[in-house]
Amino acid sequence: MPDLIDDIISLAKRRGIAFQSSEIYGGLRSSWDYGPLGVELRRNIRAAWWRSMVQLRDDVVGLEAAIIMSPLVWEASGHVAGFSDPLVECGNCHRRYRADHLQHDEAGAAKCPSCGASSFGEAKQFNLMFKTQMGPVEDEGAIAYLRPETAQGMFVDFTTVQTVARRKLPFGIAQIGKSFRNEITPGNFIFRTREFEQMEMEFFVKPGTDDEWFERWKEHRMAWCLDLGLSKDRLRFHDHEPDELAHYAKTATDIEYAFPFGWSELEGIHNRTDFDLSAHQQASGQDLSYFEQETEERYLPYVVETAIGLDRMLLACLCDAYRVEEAPTAKGDTDKRTVLGLDRSLAPIKVAVLPLSRKDTLVPEARRIHALVKTEWMTQYDDAGAIGRRYRRQDEVGTPFCVTVDFDTLEDAQVTVRERDTMSQDRLPAGNLVAYLKERL
Ligand code: ATP
Repeated sequence: MPDLIDDIISLAKRRGIAFQSSEIYGGLRSSWDYGPLGVELRRNIRAAWWRSMVQLRDDVVGLEAAIIMSPLVWEASGHVAGFSDPLVECGNCHRRYRADHLQHDEAGAAKCPSCGASSFGEAKQFNLMFKTQMGPVEDEGAIAYLRPETAQGMFVDFTTVQTVARRKLPFGIAQIGKSFRNEITPGNFIFRTREFEQMEMEFFVKPGTDDEWFERWKEHRMAWCLDLGLSKDRLRFHDHEPDELAHYAKTATDIEYAFPFGWSELEGIHNRTDFDLSAHQQASGQDLSYFEQETEERYLPYVVETAIGLDRMLLACLCDAYRVEEAPTAKGDTDKRTVLGLDRSLAPIKVAVLPLSRKDTLVPEARRIHALVKTEWMTQYDDAGAIGRRYRRQDEVGTPFCVTVDFDTLEDAQVTVRERDTMSQDRLPAGNLVAYLKERL
């Protein structure tokens, strides 16, 4: 299994899904750039999340809050005082690690992953927020933070959004955006980075109904992961014990995925109670309560949060979809083919148009067919190399359908459509192509 992550990193780099940032300068640890296919995959995951969380629901609306918020937000939310991880330094090689991520020997002593020594000192709390200066003056008053979660935008804008969207409780606010954490030990490719994107939803409910909503959201979020093709046996819930809970949570569950490096958190689902609204109400002096007309009650809503990292979901999708299998060649023997069996809705390229040859006679028809499909989906036109090799190139990035235009097409106006997983081929009139693909994509 550990080899799988190397294979995926290699494929991601080779095919421009994701690669080291600032590579010409030797790279920046934990920063990754997404290339053309990575961008499409990210857009598709975001779109799937938005569709499920906002578009198909009557009770969730969207928000895009600023990344740099008032520093008072982070004081009130408890992040300045408490958003930290335990940091330890190896007494031998002086490398620093997150204490709760270290392996222990049989005697229970933590071992340094770098030099193997067991000489760690006391853990210190290390705040994970990135601090910066706002404006041209470098004094205390100019300190600002890059947000470590998108959630606070939904809390401080709660009353505004509720009013402008004319919502009654229960309702949620969803946001997709970048977050930043100065992680002590980033790693495992895009699993843990210092800059990442989150897809978060805060669902505001009447106190007393929070446990029920927490259960509902758990099921809904697990169903989403399964709908996007993640394997059932690689997903599980991990309920937090009281000593694992974040400073704001009453109950919490992680959806964990069996990554090649072990079961790890993919998504966090938290019952945040009225912790945040009450902290912001107190610190800002603004009334953030909700008035329930039916009962004429005024109260601070409780909040159930769902929070998943886009980058982590992308990694889970790659791990789940990657496979190498035996496949027959045109000459009749067998060959290995790498397939990214992504759910069709996520595939970066939906349709590839492949003229059998580059001969002038085929090009106008192949271009005409390409023009038909590219108005509907992300497509590629590829005329370079043997057809078998071109199929393999598309399999490797998960393209569900390849459309081949051959010399017979010029006579009978038919094209061949090859499906990625079964490699089965259908011959059909070019005029029916878009309808045929629409039924399947
Ligand atoms: P961990 O315990 O792994 O540090 P966390 O419990 O602090 O994570 P949350 O605050 O619940 O994480 O964040 C919600 C989601 O955001 C996580 O489930 C994960 O998908 C994503 N996420 C958090 N930190 C990172 C990171 N450093 N890199 C990539 N994604 C992240």
